[in-house]
Amino acid sequence: MRYISTRGGIQPIPFKDAVMMGLATDGGLLLPESYPQVSRDDLAAWRNLSYPQLAFQVISRFVDDIPAEDLRGIIERSYATFDHPEVTPLVHKDGVWILELFHGVTLAFKDVALQFLGNIFEYILAERNERLNIVGATSGDTGSAAIHGVRGKKGINIFILHPQGKTSPVQALQMTTVTDANVHNIAIHGTFDDCQDMVKALFNDLEFKEKYSLGAVNSINWARVLAQVVYYVYAWLRVTEKGERPVSFSVPTGNFGDIFAGYVAKRMGLPIDKLLLATNENNILTRFINDGDYSLTRVVSTVSPSMDIQVASNFERYLFHLYHEDPARVRAAFAELREKGRINFSAAEMEQVRQEFCSASVDQARTLETIGSFQQETGYLLDPHTAVGVRAAQELLPPAMARVCLATAHPAKFGEAVEQATGAPAPVPPAIVALAGMPTRCEVMDADLEQVRAFVVANIALGGSTINS
Ligand SMILES: *Cc1c(COP(=O)(O)O)cnc(C)c1O
Repeated sequence: MRYISTRGGIQPIPFKDAVMMGLATDGGLLLPESYPQVSRDDLAAWRNLSYPQLAFQVISRFVDDIPAEDLRGIIERSYATFDHPEVTPLVHKDGVWILELFHGVTLAFKDVALQFLGNIFEYILAERNERLNIVGATSGDTGSAAIHGVRGKKGINIFILHPQGKTSPVQALQMTTVTDANVHNIAIHGTFDDCQDMVKALFNDLEFKEKYSLGAVNSINWARVLAQVVYYVYAWLRVTEKGERPVSFSVPTGNFGDIFAGYVAKRMGLPIDKLLLATNENNILTRFINDGDYSLTRVVSTVSPSMDIQVASNFERYLFHLYHEDPARVRAAFAELREKGRINFSAAEMEQVRQEFCSASVDQARTLETIGSFQQETGYLLDPHTAVGVRAAQELLPPAMARVCLATAHPAKFGEAVEQATGAPAPVPPAIVALAGMPTRCEVMDADLEQVRAFVVANIALGGSTINS
């Protein structure tokens, strides 16, 4: 299996090179040359597999440059850190299936992908005798999942900048209580944008980037998407256990990564009826699907902050397919977006889009109302991101089909919104309670690029050995 760029500027490369490349060197995103197909017989044979066993079956079809036993080990280590034997269990409540993706260490679905990515990185780096220095900015969720994905891993240092006092207290503790020698938390006196700007400046200094082997962990790494394909298959197998029927997925969407994984599952032949793309007030993707209107507006802050995004980075992967794998069309579309702030689509294209997706935007009031009513009716507490998806499913998907709603975070992670919706604080799991008493390590700095750069250089030089915990 080889990987190509949506912008058409690289020769096809094998899986391991695609993982290490992250963003394609021509500025595009990497995709497999074709999608391996899953047959009815495969699905029947997979019914009794554990999550890691199923993950191996799905992932190995995209990977032909890692020996099977090694890949199995990587997958097993990645999902052994989850606190539920099923890894991504399903619960049936009030006519919808909740696919709980929050049983990883940071209680949000990004762990599913980042635990796998951390282990893949470590494996490839060891094999190539290389080192990787990950530098990133976070407003909360991605940074903590990335830190937990690479903590204690050989050959990797990670530097995560966050705005001091501007993440939730739980998010900050999930980062700063990781005291492994290869993990460097940097709290910046400033905003998330200050953090982001400094990280971009470091990456734009190509000499610096090359010299210090800088890498990123953002949502565009193909290995992340791939790891997420697995739970669509897993959920489909669970909800059709007592007989096959139409299955649809409702996906609370920010960067289009999670829902693109569902699209990949469908392209592989998994019988998915509808892929429902759910957004909050930041609804560019809903406007696109429902009205053909892909035009940029400003980002607004909501109670589901991990979906407060305008330019969904993984959307480019879908565009490549919508444009029949023509990279020239992708390049033209992004040039149009840069110049005019919008992309226009033909009637035929929009027809295809609506065959593949449906969409709803759920505002803050309906999100909070859904958390409250769902709890009253079922006793089950939704986090605000999950609530967006549940509400969209209730509004758009007929109850006769199996409606699977992806639960992307544990409610305790967004306790304030939950309390606003229900009038009572969300019960806090022991893992979060324990954070308060743990030692922390964090460097506090001004939003000063040279200070950050000096810190990174000093700690890369010191980072020859890492400890495992
Ligand atoms: C990242 C995130 C999302 C959005 O996922 P995308 O892959 O960016 O679409 C939704 N909910 C939570 C809790 C997240 O952390």
